[in-house]
Amino acid sequence: MTQEVSFLDMKANLATHREDLLQAAANVLDSGWLVLGRETATFEQEYADYCGTKRCVGVANGLDALSLALRALDIGPGDEVIVPANTYIATWLAVSHVGATPVPVEPVEATYNMDPALIEAAITPRTRAILPVHLYGQAADIPAIENIAERHGLAVLEDGAQAHGAKYHGMQIGTGNSLVAWSFYPGKNLGAIGDGGGVTTGDPAIADKLAMLRNYGSRVKYHNEVIGYNSRLDELQAAMLRVKLRALDAENARRKEIATRYLDGLRGANVILPMVPDWADPVWHLFVVRHTDRDGLAARLKADGIATMIHYPVPPHLQPAYRDAGIAEGSFPLTERIHREVLSLPIGPALSDEEVERVIDAVHRHA
Ligand SMILES: *Cc1c(COP(=O)(O)O)cnc(C)c1O
Repeated sequence: MTQEVSFLDMKANLATHREDLLQAAANVLDSGWLVLGRETATFEQEYADYCGTKRCVGVANGLDALSLALRALDIGPGDEVIVPANTYIATWLAVSHVGATPVPVEPVEATYNMDPALIEAAITPRTRAILPVHLYGQAADIPAIENIAERHGLAVLEDGAQAHGAKYHGMQIGTGNSLVAWSFYPGKNLGAIGDGGGVTTGDPAIADKLAMLRNYGSRVKYHNEVIGYNSRLDELQAAMLRVKLRALDAENARRKEIATRYLDGLRGANVILPMVPDWADPVWHLFVVRHTDRDGLAARLKADGIATMIHYPVPPHLQPAYRDAGIAEGSFPLTERIHREVLSLPIGPALSDEEVERVIDAVHRHA
């Protein structure tokens, strides 16, 4: 009995960083300083440098990164934010948490990312921002989206939770003046040893506001300017992230190697493969194929010892959480079809060449 090909071998990945992580953890324990100290400040500077921007503010998780960034833009009740219909629900939840309304638009079918051509029709006098997601590790069409935002006086907040290090037109996500919310959840390309998140920005005023919002709305101890949050990236997670950040480019390169082999090896198989526009350089957070009998294919691969996952089975507008929004089934047919057909194949820095070949053979047999 051959061993199962796991979807993402977290244990194997952590083992490769074990000594460095333990040493970094020991340094934090020995310092006796556990919240908002040197490790967090250093990680923030290192990640801002990595992205090619001025500032990073560490927060507790990706959802808070999105919510606090919206608060920093003064978006709240009565406002509308344009979001992808086809995304993980956290993107929508952040908009709802600040009291604003998520207004979904359909994706480009080939890339699964927000379709810039559909944004203008969704703009109303209440629209304040556009919130594109770099889904599965591939950049959304940011220049086109920024162009629309500029013409209508809207902010752009990017959800970079799945795309640390991804590039578009040779530029890295987060570069310059862009405002990006990041998740450092363990399973992301840059993951902590627990929850973590951050916001990068080229605007020091926004960064200062975020630093205030994450810490009870306080810049000066016991002086609270606004109704803030407790949402901080702690010292231990920041120290872990500094170790993982040093390996990010190498791990992304390994993901790209695997994706390149999949794209080549799966040509001619009866699945729709990911499409990469010539201006995009994805970091392959996920390798997502489509099949009309997705559940059958997943079951056959499972029987063959290949683990798969679905990202995602139910779109946000059809979740019970958004029942009150009253968006009927059929309102976003492309998104709904994508959710019925997508299947994520194993990918991750610890996946071996031999496992990749087993996946390719199995998909050819079962698709
Ligand atoms: C993971 C994820 C989030 C939320 O991040 P958490 O750290 O889990 O809160 C937001 N948006 C997208 C697209 C994600 O994949």
